[in-house]
Amino acid sequence: MRDLRMRYGTKDVLTGVSFEAHRGEVLALLGPNGAGKTTTIEILEGFRMRSAGEVLVLGQDPAHADEAWRARLGVVLQSWRDHGRWQVRELLAYLARFYVPYSTPEVTRPWDVDELIRMVGLAEHANAKVQNLSGGQRRRLDVAIGIVGRPELVFLDEPTAGFDPHARREFHDLVHRLADFENTTILLTTHDLDEAEKLADRIIVLDGGTIVANGSAEQLARELTTQAEVRWTSGGRRHVHAVTEGDPTGFVRGLLARDQEVTELEVKRASLEDTYMSLVHRAETSGAETSGPDKNTADAGGPGQAPSERTEEVQS
Ligand code: ADP
Repeated sequence: MRDLRMRYGTKDVLTGVSFEAHRGEVLALLGPNGAGKTTTIEILEGFRMRSAGEVLVLGQDPAHADEAWRARLGVVLQSWRDHGRWQVRELLAYLARFYVPYSTPEVTRPWDVDELIRMVGLAEHANAKVQNLSGGQRRRLDVAIGIVGRPELVFLDEPTAGFDPHARREFHDLVHRLADFENTTILLTTHDLDEAEKLADRIIVLDGGTIVANGSAEQLARELTTQAEVRWTSGGRRHVHAVTEGDPTGFVRGLLARDQEVTELEVKRASLEDTYMSLVHRAETSGAETSGPDKNTADAGGPGQAPSERTEEVQS
């Protein structure tokens, strides 16, 4: 998409969003509530008309695309609430039939239903009624419904909201499998930074109608001014030093050479959460003008403040 804009009435929600996704890539779209994530995804899905900008999804403009194009997309919405009395296998087999005409020599559609049921971990529940599934099983069924047509591109809107850690892990394995073995491109929204870090090749942070960061989790953390935080104890006191440039190894080597009493040494890289809070905070204080991390405005203060280069004694 290039320079995507969306206005609701007089309110500009997207003010020029541009990004690309490559085949087989997993992208996580992050941003505070109201940032425009759902709007962006719905425009890409063809469910919402944009105000301006260029958008191509699988080679077509979603605003004018046909059913054959739609068959190549998978959309996983928040849970289905109907079909409670249908059985899992029965429902999937029913939906699968709609994709038969869209099979191509390259992509056989739909997915074999039993294989799909195994893949999403519902083999033991294939004959269960939908209304009797647990929350996690229900969500896996939502995913199965979204991908039954063997889509080339899948949209997942907060896919693991309400999952327990086990269900979350299984779901992550499924996403990796789709991307790695099926070469499926995946765009997901999440509020879970840990999830974005685990799943996504690339993270896009949307705030104030524009992209404030676009890169891998490592790139985003590296681009922040605070590279790493070194903590240690010496003479019964805790110390902390923020290494803002380059590799913290040099500082640690120097520290150990000049102070023989150092214990409890700890080097911590900026977490994705630190990066995210810093980016979003910066966008809010600077009017969201930046298109990427900008070192000049990074230490503006507040909750996401990046500490500058300094050593402090801290209360333990
Ligand atoms: P997110 O998914 O990041 O929480 P949304 O795309 O849902 O953000 O919403 C972005 C902004 O657009 C919000 O301020 C929301 O109130 C507004 N908005 C969303 N849909 C509509 C609509 N149909 N009419 C008017 N305003 C809308």
